[in-house]
Amino acid sequence: MLVTVLGFYGGYPHNGIGTSGYLLEDNGKKMLIDCGSGVLNALSKYMKPTDLDAVILSHYHHDHTADIGVLQYEWLAAKKENPLPIYGHTQDFVNFAQLTVDNASKGIAYNDYESTEIGSLKFEFLRTIHPVPAYAMRITNKEGKVLVYTADTTYFDGLVDFAKDADLLIADTNFPEDVTGHKAHLNTKEAGTLAKDSNVKRLMISHLPQTVDLETMLSQSQKYAGDIPVVHAFEGLEIEV
Ligand SMILES: [Zn+2]
Ligand SMILES: [Zn+2]
Repeated sequence: MLVTVLGFYGGYPHNGIGTSGYLLEDNGKKMLIDCGSGVLNALSKYMKPTDLDAVILSHYHHDHTADIGVLQYEWLAAKKENPLPIYGHTQDFVNFAQLTVDNASKGIAYNDYESTEIGSLKFEFLRTIHPVPAYAMRITNKEGKVLVYTADTTYFDGLVDFAKDADLLIADTNFPEDVTGHKAHLNTKEAGTLAKDSNVKRLMISHLPQTVDLETMLSQSQKYAGDIPVVHAFEGLEIEV
């Protein structure tokens, strides 16, 4: 599967770069993981947004969903035969209900006690620790390649098992190492240590801050990841998993 970064900032877009959004392509299917501010513009550089096969949302914070409304308008205008499937959790019924818009999109529920097949991929979900319900994703393709996305989370031990032996880990890395014990996000030390403890093959730090140099974020994460290669997200970064 191929991952393309469409936006990577936490909280709000910055200098023309959006918040969380990743294009995931596998076996001819094109899926969008999270749909933050600026993501629809970035996506349209790669494909027609109305050719998406599905969207999967980790949670309903605006930096992960800001462009859902305008994506629904684009689908509405395109008068497609079938609506766009948007997968989301049902721990927040108000936001889940908004995933469905007549003649545009249809909300589909996922949960953390059974896996969900989307295209040729198996999605497994893990509830994270975050101010609102949020879910990490473990995505496995038919060749057995594994992508794990932490979504937004503070550090907890369950992340290590969930990310075990993944080919690529995309980790929420919103803070440098001197910001410790944050209740919503990981710092560089936690992201690097998580990669090492779960024995992943590669780490991408993402959900990055606007106020800290990205090379500093990268070198701190690499220090704790040991010999696991680390890259910081940037718009247009493509990784074959
Ligand atoms: Zn976020
Ligand atoms: Zn969040």
